[in-house]
Amino acid sequence: MNLLDQRVAETLSSHGVLAQTVPGFQPRQGQTDMAMAVSRTVQDGGQLVVEAGTGTGKTYAYLVPVLLSGQRALVSTATKALQDQLFSRDIPRLVEVLGLPIRVALLKGRGNYLCLHRMEQARHSPESAQPGAQKALAKIETWAQSTRSGDMAELTGLDERSSLWPLVTSTRDNCLGSTCPRYRACHVNLARKEAMAADVVVINHHLFFADMAVRESGVAELLPTVRVTVFDEAHQLNEIGVNFLGQQLTTLQLHELVRDVLATGLQLARGLVDWQVLSAGLEKAARDWRLTAGQHRGSVRLRWTGQHPEGVVPDEWSGALQAVSSALVDLQNGLDMVNELAPDFQRLSERTRELMQRAALFSETPNPEGVRWAEVSAQLRLIESPLDIAQAFSALTRPVSVMPQPEADAEPPADADSLEALMAGDPRHAAGKPASAGHAPGVGQRAWIFTSATLGDEPSLRWFTEPCGLSSAEVMQVNSPFDYAQQAALYVPPHLPRPGDPGHASQVAALVLEALAILGGRTLVLTTTLNAMRSIGEQLQAQCDGGVEVLVQGQSPKRRLMERFREGGGHGDAQGRMGCVLVASASFWEGFDVPGDALQLVVIDKLPFPPPGDPLFEARSQRITEQGKSAFNDHALPEAAVSLKQGAGRLIRSETDRGILVVCDNRLSTMSYGRRLVRGLPAMRRLEDHAAFMQALRQLTTDASHPSA
Ligand code: SF4
Repeated sequence: MNLLDQRVAETLSSHGVLAQTVPGFQPRQGQTDMAMAVSRTVQDGGQLVVEAGTGTGKTYAYLVPVLLSGQRALVSTATKALQDQLFSRDIPRLVEVLGLPIRVALLKGRGNYLCLHRMEQARHSPESAQPGAQKALAKIETWAQSTRSGDMAELTGLDERSSLWPLVTSTRDNCLGSTCPRYRACHVNLARKEAMAADVVVINHHLFFADMAVRESGVAELLPTVRVTVFDEAHQLNEIGVNFLGQQLTTLQLHELVRDVLATGLQLARGLVDWQVLSAGLEKAARDWRLTAGQHRGSVRLRWTGQHPEGVVPDEWSGALQAVSSALVDLQNGLDMVNELAPDFQRLSERTRELMQRAALFSETPNPEGVRWAEVSAQLRLIESPLDIAQAFSALTRPVSVMPQPEADAEPPADADSLEALMAGDPRHAAGKPASAGHAPGVGQRAWIFTSATLGDEPSLRWFTEPCGLSSAEVMQVNSPFDYAQQAALYVPPHLPRPGDPGHASQVAALVLEALAILGGRTLVLTTTLNAMRSIGEQLQAQCDGGVEVLVQGQSPKRRLMERFREGGGHGDAQGRMGCVLVASASFWEGFDVPGDALQLVVIDKLPFPPPGDPLFEARSQRITEQGKSAFNDHALPEAAVSLKQGAGRLIRSETDRGILVVCDNRLSTMSYGRRLVRGLPAMRRLEDHAAFMQALRQLTTDASHPSA
């Protein structure tokens, strides 16, 4: 065992510094095993993929070796919640108890920082005439005088969904870059400089891929000097990645261009061009184009394999897209007339040109190597993307040496061609420094660590590694330390109709009502569709007797729903609080963490197979079939297994939790593939019939009123 391995093992042991200083810390074998594997990878370089079951303590398992190694590191998460938790809690705590002189920086997307230039223009925009806008702008201007970071999270009372938010923050489209009059004081640039000077930088996957696509976030400048990259919540990498690596044209982009042209034109070049007419032309073309996609409930994806998306009237679609292109050309001509007046017009001109190019791309037939679809909601969004990130990502993660860290005040290079070039060690992109030679101190092969609680349904974790191009990575599974056989039970009600039967949702609701009569709340219902969510939610709201509060996703902000649910309550609650049941879909299947008695029953309405007709799913299935494999066994089934595992993972979150998982889909018992799905779940005891289910519910209330039992 070398020195780093020894220090890692010692730190995580029963007599180590964490056991002595961090409240509630307990040494766990799985955590130590994972930490030792991370330690080896940090020292030798390469790719390590670790599926770490709930309760492993994976955050410390990667942070301890990474921080102790003293290597420069990037830690990326899928969600802002985990990003903030790492930066504000986990890393500072470890840095302090380990006594390490480490500089840590948080880098968010540019939309999170105040844009000084746009703030100065905001009072001229039409939105600033709305009631209350002037007062809110005055508050922002006052805060702008004192903030150091410009992080909008500091500003209380302004919601991200406010129409003022985009007026005082920037996008890649509207940022003026080095031609901006406020460039030196720019908060986005200052945040990037701080990241350049830090030893550990916490980012998110969106930023990472934004850079892979367009070098947008400043991560590209960091990567050549980063020795270790950790992706936590790595199961989301592929889906986030394909969104960024493709091309998009949206009506929202067109409306935002209209808004910015109008505000800038009227402020800086009033009377020189008829901005109202040009803007109204593009606005109308965008609206008409959206209408050609038809009316749909919620958001739908239209398949697109030929000249047009399916379900549209071809001539109307082509005519509307042509009208958008013409309106963009008119706008471009107008902008050309004032181009020299201000950098704002040059940037608007570039944006217009980019949108014209995308309109031309989507007027052609789709690229056969990828997949194209139209997403229709209140807006229209056209997307063409690769089927996965394998090609782009395997190029990035191939073994290369690392460059020395740049000086703290180094400017980002202006001529970097792509992240790939940077990652490959092109010396031009190392902030003016030459590429490192081999294995000098602090230099060596780059280490890539990928981790999540769910990365597949079998030991090779192919569900994750193949689409990410990580087929040669070292793979490791760390089992949860929880005793699922003791702590949890699985019930598949044999009497329910098959999903698809018109009465299924109603019978699921009836089963939940029966359970609530015993538990008095503490129940999470996860549905696979919004229709089922509404139907079950409405029935529960109509029939719950007032002793249980029924929460339904969409009826309150997500954060409020989670807070209310965590407060718990129900029969046996010492404070006499009313219990609650939460009916939710989509984002609640993962990341919803409720340890303790507040959650004891998770009900899943049906097996979460990918929705049929989804263009991305269909295109991936087709490729798998062309490779001679089974689209069902090699694609649909692993997808369902991973989703089921994530949903089931909401139940047991600590060593003392007890609970029941109900899957209201008897295909889990009757179909041969059901066995594979059950094998993918933690090994819970089975409840064979309704009487056993009722008995287990009653037992939970006894345990809840006697937590030490
Ligand atoms: S450089 Fe871009 S983000 Fe920064 S102040 Fe200027 S426009 Fe805003």
